[in-house]
Amino acid sequence: EVAVLSAVDVSKHFVVRNAVGNSSVVRAVEHASVDLHAGRIVAVVGESGSGKTTLARLLARFYEPTQGQIRLDGAPVAKGSAARGYHQQVQLIFQDPFGSLNPVHRVRHNLDRALRIHDRRLGRAERRRRAVELLERVSLTPGEDFLDKFPHELSGGQRQRVVIARALAVAPKVLLGDEPISMLDVSIRLEMLNLLGRLSREEGLAMLYITHDIASARYVCDDVVVMYAGQMTEGGPKDRVIGAPAHPYTKLLVESSPDPDRVGTTSRDDQFADAEALGEPPSLIEPPTGCRFHPRCPFAMSRCAEEEPPRTDLGDGHWSRCWLHQVGRADEIGADTYSA
Ligand code: SF4
Repeated sequence: EVAVLSAVDVSKHFVVRNAVGNSSVVRAVEHASVDLHAGRIVAVVGESGSGKTTLARLLARFYEPTQGQIRLDGAPVAKGSAARGYHQQVQLIFQDPFGSLNPVHRVRHNLDRALRIHDRRLGRAERRRRAVELLERVSLTPGEDFLDKFPHELSGGQRQRVVIARALAVAPKVLLGDEPISMLDVSIRLEMLNLLGRLSREEGLAMLYITHDIASARYVCDDVVVMYAGQMTEGGPKDRVIGAPAHPYTKLLVESSPDPDRVGTTSRDDQFADAEALGEPPSLIEPPTGCRFHPRCPFAMSRCAEEEPPRTDLGDGHWSRCWLHQVGRADEIGADTYSA
């Protein structure tokens, strides 16, 4: 089955200048690949600076990749081609639902613009009918009651639902959520995840869910990819990646998650408290040689600083990039870890 949206070996480098005018290259994402399928959710988990947001923006075509390809329905998206048609198929949802809605416009107007972009032939009455339908699809019922509200009259959760309704207005195939629940009240995060899950499973949307929160990834997604310092380090079905991590970094993340069964209760700081105790995430200007995790890895061997570990396939779609798999020491990571 062809993926709806894929990143194929994409890298993104940014050139930055310091105060005295010297330029350096930030290697924000390197050789990342991911496939999004209809009716499935892939979570990308990582610390800030891991490259996960850059990856979402590459998939949303807010950035052009430095190298590699984005493919929609299997066809490479040409560099510089119009983004408008693309954004009818691929929509990105940001963290901050307040910043994403125009505060001077009522909900109706925010949705109306998207509906007009979707189909210019829609008349006023039809757009209104569809706006109500969209609001009800994201459980703002009755939809009529929300049409004339301004964003500031809504709760954070209601605003994020309006943002999702607006994304759905153009009938996309793919939703990319960049930490879509992290700025919402803890009490409503679960409901939002249920909504995303429903849109994917019942309506067949392909979804990317970017998060720092392992518990929410485990709750809502089908597959997980872990990113560290701009690279993908482990990926596969969630029960394998989160339930029995094969990579030392994932293991650290899972162990540092205060309660992997409590969704959305971890702040960014809690989630990475243990990981950070091992040291700062590496610079993306001069990333560590070999395995980028080696300065923080409790299992590091001399080879780890010298050569990048290859991808090892562990079966059932589970893979990891770590030398331990190659030298037959994977069992040191944990008793129920799979080895190659
Ligand atoms: Fe640790 Fe080496 Fe594996 Fe990297 S390759 S995660 S440094 S053991």
